[in-house]
Amino acid sequence: MSFARCILIKYGELVLKGANKRRFERALSEDIARALAPIGAFRTEYRQSTMALTMEDDANTEAAFDRLSRVFGIAALSIAYPCEKNLPDILAVIREKIVPTLGGYRSFKADAKRSDKSFPLTSMELMQEAGACVGEACPHLSVDVHNPEVTVTVEVRDRLAFVHASRVIGARGLPAGTSGTGLLLLSGGIDSPVAGWLMAKRGLRLSALHFESYPYTSERAKEKVLTLGRKLCRYTCSLDTYVIGLTELQLALRDAVREEYFTLILRRCMLRLATRLAEELSIPALITGESLGQVASQTLSAMAASDAATPLPILRPCVGLDKDEIVRYARHIDTFETSILPYEDCCTVFVPKHPKLTPELEKIEAEEAKLDLDRLLDEAYKSLEKIPLTEEA
Ligand code: ATP
Ligand code: MG
Repeated sequence: MSFARCILIKYGELVLKGANKRRFERALSEDIARALAPIGAFRTEYRQSTMALTMEDDANTEAAFDRLSRVFGIAALSIAYPCEKNLPDILAVIREKIVPTLGGYRSFKADAKRSDKSFPLTSMELMQEAGACVGEACPHLSVDVHNPEVTVTVEVRDRLAFVHASRVIGARGLPAGTSGTGLLLLSGGIDSPVAGWLMAKRGLRLSALHFESYPYTSERAKEKVLTLGRKLCRYTCSLDTYVIGLTELQLALRDAVREEYFTLILRRCMLRLATRLAEELSIPALITGESLGQVASQTLSAMAASDAATPLPILRPCVGLDKDEIVRYARHIDTFETSILPYEDCCTVFVPKHPKLTPELEKIEAEEAKLDLDRLLDEAYKSLEKIPLTEEA
């Protein structure tokens, strides 16, 4: 007997979305299609909050599985073997397909679920049969119902039964775009890629904006940011990244404003330029990697001064995370090693020795009034460059 493999995909919280459920399902289907487009054709069947996806060429199943593990909206996924809904077929699948994969484990448990209540065995009976079958074929495995190294699961669903032993937690979250769009202020640091990933996970479709200060920041520094953008594309498929040059503006700031206000005013200028771009792209929110108290420009009053520079909401998903937590996410999404490359950022050129920790908006505005800010912002905006990124470039 031969059994084809499929990928069983459990939908996440989108099943809870009531009237919106259809829209979420459609978005997820599109994300799945986009994620698998570089690999090959596939078929899907969706029932009871679970999708069974079969690659036309089974050799692509593992590559598809890897990609699907990064699609937001998927709660869990497993490579499963579908079969007819009768005990002999189910046990044959366990013996032929599952047992050969269990060599490296020491303990297991069997699990059974039955959404078809007309199936002649109860879940408990089915579990016992499956457990006995594994135990007989794998004398090296002990049964551990509390903390097994592997769980062999039989699911009797409406049309077919599925057997699997490799359930993997999915990326969770919500499908791309179901919460709208956001413009990520992407620096070369550790925090902003994580911030983008966290908001993409909540269903925002991203565009990114990076500020450079050439020649004070180098080509390599820009390339590093683009590498970070491409790494985010492992989750978002694509990422339109915009770059604006701030050199003239920074030089003007350096010459005109009191040093302790430099970083704050630069940040407000970034937000004004980001707002202009966001409005042009009809994007209703900005995203930054700020974390409360992490550096001088990330105090509450500095954040308030930033907020006052834009009518758009600034989403700061890292605000309550400490550095270790952010680093853990950065490692998880594979941006950490790139982020710590020691290239300069435009925030690190002309840094004040004693930045203002509790800035007052009036004083900031008085400093800003020393400059022809509108003209400087117009000039900076003219340098806008668009770089569409995809995972592999
Ligand atoms: P990160 O690790 O993300 O660089 P950080 O801890 O270095 O953050 P700051 O330099 O204060 O903090 O920057 C705070 C946020 O401002 C960043 O997370 C990012 O969203 C934005 N930002 C800073 N520099 C740039 C830049 N050159 N281009 C675009 N956005 C930037
Ligand atoms: Mg930074």
